[in-house]
Formats: sequence, structure tokens, C-alpha cells
Amino acid sequence: MTDTNWNDYSLETQAIRAGHRRTHEDEHSIPIFATSSYVFKSAEEASLRFTGKIAGNIYSRFTNPTVDAFQQRLALMEKGERCLAFASGMAAIMAVGMGLLKAGDHVVCSRGVFGNTVMIFTNYFAKFGVETDFVDLIDTAAWEAAIKPNTRFLFLETPSNPLVEIADIQALADIAHAHGCLLIVDNCFCTPVLQKPFELGADIVVHSATKYIDGQGRCVGGAVIASNEIIEQFIYPYLRTGGATMSPFNAWVFLSGLETLAIRMKAHCDSAFELAKWLEQQPSVAKVHYAGLPSHAQHELAKRQQSHFGGIVSFELTGGKDHAWRLIDATRIISITANLGDVKTTITHPATTTHGRLTPELRAKAGIKDGLVRISVGLENLEDIKNDLLRGL
Ligand SMILES: *Cc1c(COP(=O)(O)O)cnc(C)c1O
Repeated sequence: MTDTNWNDYSLETQAIRAGHRRTHEDEHSIPIFATSSYVFKSAEEASLRFTGKIAGNIYSRFTNPTVDAFQQRLALMEKGERCLAFASGMAAIMAVGMGLLKAGDHVVCSRGVFGNTVMIFTNYFAKFGVETDFVDLIDTAAWEAAIKPNTRFLFLETPSNPLVEIADIQALADIAHAHGCLLIVDNCFCTPVLQKPFELGADIVVHSATKYIDGQGRCVGGAVIASNEIIEQFIYPYLRTGGATMSPFNAWVFLSGLETLAIRMKAHCDSAFELAKWLEQQPSVAKVHYAGLPSHAQHELAKRQQSHFGGIVSFELTGGKDHAWRLIDATRIISITANLGDVKTTITHPATTTHGRLTPELRAKAGIKDGLVRISVGLENLEDIKNDLLRGL
């Protein structure tokens, strides 16, 4: 098994089998290596390992066999060369910036990215002389116009949250490369099951493993996937020094999350698609945002770029904020929480939670209406979910 070339296998098989190097105990399930350090056979071996002259574990801040198994498995699934795991999705994004940016650099980022990602660029990297411009995710010309001679990378999330707008990854990768920049894609919403950014020209993929990769809302974690060269030169040295390491216990949970990821994503997508079609027929629903619907502005792009349309649906109620709150408060099984990617269906009111700190003008510009509700469709029986919503509709 150790000699298997996992590149020859499909994603579903990699997700279950790859990454585990069986130990002398012949275990079937991968062990949690709960050890902070490793022992050397001699002073000479210690010296060789520390100086990188021979491979081998030194200290779990930068290598651990359980974490390594997760990294290898996710790299294969994303069709990337190397993966490094981090303590959270934000730690992974921080590592990309810390590794790649220096004072005087410039970044172009899509406006709708995860709130803390915006803050990393505006509150932290800005302090060290890195400037960021935010552009509309789907306005390809605006991305190109925002690029400057000192732009280091373009950063985006697709589909966006909560309006599920779809960016053309291939077109933006071509633009980035024509200007000597890298393209970084946060693939958290689609996971490698639905979307493979590297096949579309992306240079770096980041993940919050906290969402679909865990899938059952237990652990916080993240990952960066890139070429050997980018990982070796920019990301690994920062992980080793900066220390936002994933714990082996969390890696073990995420490994089992990956094992069921393909089958869960299919079920999430199927239910979300059905729910979106059903919501579109409800008289009190003014608009449904779901890329699987022909009414979605990037429906054709989503069909080309993704293998399915994802598990997130958002919709606007005719009755504005009061109606949205009433609908949310009338649910009995759906969880009122901003987390997503869980087997449990979750519901949130973006205008007063995730986007509540924006001014009304900025919120309007971002298209977040007061009647907007976002649902991360879980794996409960869909009729039960519809009934839970019907009470408030
Ligand atoms: C949650 C999330 C993050 C941050 O991940 P954490 O694991 O919570 O740190 C980044 N990007 C997206 C798209 C997310 O949904």
C-alpha cells in the first residue's frame, strides 16, 4: 500500500485510502500521533534532521504523521502538489499573506470575501504597508483595472457568500498571469468535490476545513495547497516559524471528514437544488440566489466550472427584515447560526449578523437586502426542512 501512486485513483478513493502510512502495529484506522517531539537515534541523526540533510520528524509544530496524512490526502483531492494544514482557515489565509507579501506590495481582493479575510487585509497587512483594493467578484474588467505594477496576488472566493455569485476562475487566472501575479482561490464553499481551481489556472487554494471538510461542526482547521516551489519557498518556512499548526486530533477528525466528503457534497447539493426550486415557487419569496437555477446570472458559468451547484441557498423575502426574523424564529429544527457546511441545516440573517457591521450604504452596494436569508442546507429529510420554513413563509 505504501508504494501506491494515488494520482492514478479517483477522488472518492483518494479520500478514503490516501495518506495513511501503516505502522508496525498494522492498524486499519489511522492513529492520532499525540506527540510534540520525536526521538533521534544519535546526535549525528539529530543534526542531519535539523539541518534538513535527511528527512524525518523533529517537532509537531511543523511535521506530525497524522497531520501529514491529512495534508497528503487533501493535496491529492485538490490535484495540487503540496498541502500544509493550519490551525484555522484564517491561519491558512494569514500564512499566505505572511509568506508572500512584503511592505510596498499590493493585493486585489473580491469585495464579498469572508469578513475576517477583509480584516486581515485592511487591519493587519495594511499596518505593514501592504495595500488592498476590493473589486466586484464577477466584474472581470474591474479585476484587471485594479492591478498595479506592485500587485502580488488576486484573492477570491467563489461562490460568494451569501449571494452565491460565481467568478470565472480561468479568466481571472489568465489576467493574473498576464500581469505577473498569482491567483489565490478560497475553495471552502465548493471543496475539491465540486470545483478544482488548479485545473482552471489558480496558483494557491486555501481552505477552512471547519466547514464541509469536517462536515459535522466539530473542529476548526485550515489548509493551503500550492506547488512544491510555493510551499517550500513561502508557506512552509512561515508555518515552521509562525506556528499556527493544526493539532493531530483535529487532523484525525478532518481525515474522517474527507472520507465522506464526496457523498455528503452530493447530498447537500441535491437537497439545496430541490429547496431552491421550491423556494422560487413560494409567493412570499421575491428572489432565490442559487447557481443551479436558470434565473441565476452565472448559471452557465457555474455549470462549466463546478460539478454541482453547492449546498448554500439564499433568498429574499417580500416582507423585509421583520419577515426574515419571523421566519428564522419560527423554525424548530434548523439551527440559528452563521456556521455552514454542517450535516445540520443552519439559517442566518446576513444584514444583521455577518454583514451587520457594514453601513447601510455598503450593505446595499454588496447587494445584502434586509429581507435576505441564507441557508446552509444540511442532510436532514428535505420535507422536514421545508415544513420548518413553511411556518414562517
Ligand atoms: C469560515 C471561513 C473562513 C475562515 O475559516 P475558519 O476556519 O473559521 O478560520 C474563510 N473563508 C471562508 C469562505 C469561510 O467560510
